[in-house]
Amino acid sequence: MIVAKRKPFEEIKEMLKGYKKVLNVGCGTCVSVCLAGGEKEVAILNAELDMARNLEDDPIEIHGQTVERQCDREYLAELDDIIKKEKFDALMSMACGVGIQFLAERFPDIPTFPGVDTTGLAVNQAVGWYEERCRSCSQCVLGITGGICPITMCAKGLFNGPCGGTNKGNCEISADQPCAWFKIHERLAAQGRLSSIRKINLARGWKDQIPRNLIQPGYKKPEKVS
Ligand code: SF4
Ligand code: SF4
Repeated sequence: MIVAKRKPFEEIKEMLKGYKKVLNVGCGTCVSVCLAGGEKEVAILNAELDMARNLEDDPIEIHGQTVERQCDREYLAELDDIIKKEKFDALMSMACGVGIQFLAERFPDIPTFPGVDTTGLAVNQAVGWYEERCRSCSQCVLGITGGICPITMCAKGLFNGPCGGTNKGNCEISADQPCAWFKIHERLAAQGRLSSIRKINLARGWKDQIPRNLIQPGYKKPEKVS
């Protein structure tokens, strides 16, 4: 899932300075699960903003609405009527970076501000503990690394490891940090597949450095959507 955390209150307050009527839009999926930007977090932030602006004698009319997913047009469309009718000065999005951009794109005439900082793609290890596992690199190597991602799990993101800093199973950056390549070696050895990391992996193109599009093969041409 995508993990995010709410921005510091002072930063949010500063962004909304001068705006009098704002719609704060929550997202009911990933950010809701990690308690950053769901319906409850929208209500809490709105109450805080309302109180702070009243104390400063600069009241704000702040509304809240949470949609199922902000990264999906179908759900964003639910906001069309309310945004048209209420004439907000600004929008705040508590979705991940993708949802924030999609909201801003749908309502380009209204300034849109982020209410959260998007942290990454992570697994839920325990209650409230999210561990990053993927950086969407576009050239997944999990097939040769025993299902362990060397980009997120190795401190240097090495495609060929371990480096000289590996130390009895731990990474040189910390005794508490397992060495990803030690783990990769252990897993592949147990599977009898060490040959898959014996050859040198060539340098990658780092395709995650540019905006990308993914078109599922079933859809020959992406449908034009508005
Ligand atoms: S190799 Fe790339 S796509 Fe695969 S898990 Fe790691 S970051 Fe994600
Ligand atoms: S010690 Fe292991 S995890 Fe740390 S940087 Fe080197 S190869 Fe990567």
